Amino acid sequence: MQENELFDVTIIGGGPAGMYAAFYGGMRNMKIKLIEGTGELGGFLHTYSEKTIWDVGGIPPIRCDKLIGWLAQQARTFEPTLVFNQNVIELQNQTDGSFVLKTNTGESHYTRTIILATGRGIVELQKLEIEGANRYELTNLYYTVQDLNSFRGKHILISGGGDSAVDWAIELAEVARKITVVHRKRDFRAMERNVETLKEIADIRTPYEIVRLHGDNDTIHSATIAHVERQDSVVLDIDAVIVSHGFRSNYGTLHDLGFVIDDGVLAVNDQTETDVPGIYAAGDCTTYKSKVRLIAGAFNDAILAINSAKRYLDPEAPGMAYVSSHNDIFTEMNKHVSTSLKDLKV
Ligand SMILES: Cc1cc2nc3c(=O)[nH]c(=O)nc-3n(C[C@H](O)[C@H](O)[C@H](O)COP(=O)(O)OP(=O)(O)OC[C@H]3O[C@@H](n4cnc5c(N)ncnc54)[C@H](O)[C@@H]3O)c2cc1C
Repeated sequence: MQENELFDVTIIGGGPAGMYAAFYGGMRNMKIKLIEGTGELGGFLHTYSEKTIWDVGGIPPIRCDKLIGWLAQQARTFEPTLVFNQNVIELQNQTDGSFVLKTNTGESHYTRTIILATGRGIVELQKLEIEGANRYELTNLYYTVQDLNSFRGKHILISGGGDSAVDWAIELAEVARKITVVHRKRDFRAMERNVETLKEIADIRTPYEIVRLHGDNDTIHSATIAHVERQDSVVLDIDAVIVSHGFRSNYGTLHDLGFVIDDGVLAVNDQTETDVPGIYAAGDCTTYKSKVRLIAGAFNDAILAINSAKRYLDPEAPGMAYVSSHNDIFTEMNKHVSTSLKDLKV
């Protein structure tokens, strides 16, 4: 990539909306750059990567990390320029109508149009607020579950009262020796049916919270949990701790640049246009009348945003890309892909 190289579209965010926009922009022969604040594509899907996804059209039930892999592979089809570990913090208009994007690493990116696909912004998991807890993060203190099997035969202490904590408790009960769940409130915020299941499969301690982790060689062997109202506490021998206290997300100053904000996200029209010409938005960072906050909704937004950017740059261009089944751009590629049903392994 040359310094100051000008792109047709720069997509900010590498979640489902950004990844699909990178693909669809390639279908429209656009020169695409995608900037992602973390070190990988996938966006919010990484927070539930071990879950099974059922509601993406045409895809049989699939583990979310596998779906991330497929989306990332599709995003790379037309070899967009991918930039990782840079958060875009500022957008500047140029006199010629193009834009300069500034990132937290001090770099500048030059582009004719922008697609904001920032989802929930930069997501930070809420950590366990106990001094020294971070030293166990490389061993047996977890904030997400990547591999159910690694918990086989263990006594797992789960902290949290929302859907995610309760879901993990139920799924892990299949492999764990014992599940204990602590929650600082008396009632869980999770789906009622799941809370009923939880009561059958877990040792529930409410209203309790973890106040101390005890370990040898940076591995936790027990935890002190304390009643949040009374002066009593219990030490539990455990093999692993999973903390599911939700997440904080923020857009930094990126959305404060004069866009219309509705309920914390970008208000766009049915063409995903923001009120700044040349800047479009797709996925969970947007709102409009019929907005669908799902992976499938992010794909649809991405198509609309790319089509709007295309028409902005070339008002004579067709409203959408030529359908893939009859699009010459795939003629050569089709020789190298198998479309046989028997080759589909999900
Ligand atoms: C618990 C949970 C379960 C879900 N399960 C399903 C499901 O089963 N099926 C389904 O269809 N949907 C599901 N969803 C919804 C789905 O996850 C979202 O609709 C989808 O992730 C939105 O994609 P996105 O690309 O808009 O945003 P995100 O996935 O949030 O991606 C945004 C990306 O932008 C990056 N970013 C943000 N700001 C910047 C910046 N300034 N600079 C650079 N990069 C930036 C972030 O790091 C992130 O990678 C679920 C949501 C939740 C909360």
